[in-house]
Amino acid sequence: MEGGIRQPDHPMTKECRVGTQLHGQGVKRSFDDSKQFSRLFTSRVQGISIASLYFVEVFSGTAGLTAEVRRLGCQRSTGIGAHVTKQVKAPVKRLDLSDEAGQTLLWRILKDPRVFAAHLGPHVGHLPGPGRSVKSFGLHPLPLRSDKFPDGLANLPPRDQAHVDTANKLYKFSGEILAYCTKHGIICSLENPARSHMWNMPFLKSPLQGLSSQLQEVLFHHCMLGSKRRKRTKLLVNHCCFSHFRRECENAHEHDAWGTLPQGGQLLMKWSTHMGYVESGQPV
Ligand SMILES: [Zn+2]
Repeated sequence: MEGGIRQPDHPMTKECRVGTQLHGQGVKRSFDDSKQFSRLFTSRVQGISIASLYFVEVFSGTAGLTAEVRRLGCQRSTGIGAHVTKQVKAPVKRLDLSDEAGQTLLWRILKDPRVFAAHLGPHVGHLPGPGRSVKSFGLHPLPLRSDKFPDGLANLPPRDQAHVDTANKLYKFSGEILAYCTKHGIICSLENPARSHMWNMPFLKSPLQGLSSQLQEVLFHHCMLGSKRRKRTKLLVNHCCFSHFRRECENAHEHDAWGTLPQGGQLLMKWSTHMGYVESGQPV
């Protein structure tokens, strides 16, 4: 695509035109919402070269997704993370998003008219500081949340409460970013394990009030996308270009077992080392 970007084929596929069922909630994406989003997206990218467009990967870790998007031509794309390690695969801006100054800087980036897409994958590994490690709490860490109290259990010890408060700030901020992107024609995906308490947190849901008809859930098993683990992940997205990720494991192949492995004399969860989540799939 030379000299500019035209509206890609996917925003107005048949599925988008007629409305898409939102998993488990019975909410339909309306034709008007889809049309409005496509109009905003088109006005954002029309006539702008791909090389000038930004993709922003928030809580990017090693920024593997950013690296792939840059390879496709959006070379200004960047990761955002609290930690920048030597393992990063693309440029990552170091921002502490639990801090107001960090959030202000990220808003400045997201409000650049050349931002066309964003991805959010908040989890414990993105918290600044040492966080709450599996190691500190043994093989079966005490829960900090429950189905009834997704925002955090009552009467937690001060250290745990501080950790939950910080994590909640990040989830709330993630909801605010997804809401902003949805209202401004920026393609956005929010990722967490399918059974993460994050999905039920009022902190996350509050900023998304009134937008349910514009959001879709996409559930998939990683083993259907090349991984060896049967990890089930959920995306909450504002665009149907993610629909092809909907792949449930058919149990027609072998999986790597979950469990523990020795590392540096400590037992760490395989999940934790692989994806930055504790065994329960809860990002704490
Ligand atoms: Zn599988």
